[in-house]
Amino acid sequence: MAEYDTILIRYGELSTKGHNRKNFIRRLEANIRQALAEYPHLQYRRTYDGIYIKMTVVHPQALREKLSRVFGISSFSFTQAVDSNMEAITKACLQIAAQSPAHTFKMITRRHDKSFPLNSDAINRAVADAILQQTDKKVDVHHPELPIQVEVQARKTYITAEKIPGAGGYPVGINGKCLVLLSGGIDSPVAVYEMMKRGIEVEALHFASPPYTSEQAKEKMLTLASMLSVYQGSMKVHIVSFTDLQLAIYKAAGDPYAVTLMRRMMFRIAERIAAEEGCLVLGTGESIGQVASQTLESMVCINSVIRIPVIRPLACLDKVEIIDLARRIGTYETSILPYEDCCTIFDPKNPVTRPHEDKAAFYEARFDWQSLVETCVQTRQTQIVTSRKEQEEFL
Ligand code: ATP
Ligand code: MG
Repeated sequence: MAEYDTILIRYGELSTKGHNRKNFIRRLEANIRQALAEYPHLQYRRTYDGIYIKMTVVHPQALREKLSRVFGISSFSFTQAVDSNMEAITKACLQIAAQSPAHTFKMITRRHDKSFPLNSDAINRAVADAILQQTDKKVDVHHPELPIQVEVQARKTYITAEKIPGAGGYPVGINGKCLVLLSGGIDSPVAVYEMMKRGIEVEALHFASPPYTSEQAKEKMLTLASMLSVYQGSMKVHIVSFTDLQLAIYKAAGDPYAVTLMRRMMFRIAERIAAEEGCLVLGTGESIGQVASQTLESMVCINSVIRIPVIRPLACLDKVEIIDLARRIGTYETSILPYEDCCTIFDPKNPVTRPHEDKAAFYEARFDWQSLVETCVQTRQTQIVTSRKEQEEFL
């Protein structure tokens, strides 16, 4: 087998240039180091074109899984590093070709070091000639079974026949922080994932209504948070006790407007916590038209009580598309566990689908919600959640 000793991380074509690009690369390296923290024997080198990680101990399979969850990587490869001269390059490529069961190949060279005596075309031709002479492989430039990639740097050249797709997006943390309202449902975990993919660090806010909602419901949300924390190392989770405020809402507003008021209160509390935590925006798993509180009229009436922007990554997706994403990121099976949510506990029979702001304000004037909101903010419980799998591995 070819001896793959260096991982090459590619960023793809970044639209950001100059200072932003430097930030991007620096942040990506920090996030990769964090994702691979349990492997101390790795040496990192970052260049304009890619990050190179030299492995002194071989464990590609485990690294592969971890790297495929780091946002900002467009693709990565396990490569063999050889000295930058034609003899060493040809020998390594020949070895890869000889060991592969493929019938066709193609040489793909990128010459980052322009002082190398041959240009990339000439390197491709010279190596392909050697492979044609010494093996029975044929060249196929359109659909090669074995694309052999050669990255020529000043001292070392990196050779590989594989390219693993990365998670794409931007490195988490590069685009500020968001407070996402995380229920135990299917949608909000997917919203968290989509926000993180845009390079946004996520903190989670959960509303619990004990004793109407159980410990298991809270645990389920924490399990989801733990699953999602792998994309950013750890995640801060705030849990608000919502019961007293919810009971007061139902007393003041009755059935049709209860959900509207409840969601206005959720946003007010979230806006306060976001300000305290330095989160620039809120995020939710709302999808237009999915339920009564997610019609455009409802969203406007609910959104009007806060000034902080609300990002809704799933706004225009179908439930089927959201479920598909939830399956892909692995949260679906946990999300469908049947524990009660604070919204379903007081499930109104006839929720209003076109609430009016005047009417909502009218009901709110009936009770001192300000002090209840204040209590919710002040008495929240905060914890840092990490990946449970990793914790178990360390035990
Ligand atoms: P989800 O699958 O995310 O629960 P849903 O389809 O059940 O979504 P709603 O219950 O109307 O929709 O909630 C819409 C959004 O409000 C959720 O995506 C989430 O962002 C937020 N939310 C709802 N309930 C809670 C809760 N108990 N704690 C925190 N956020 C919540
Ligand atoms: Mg829900």
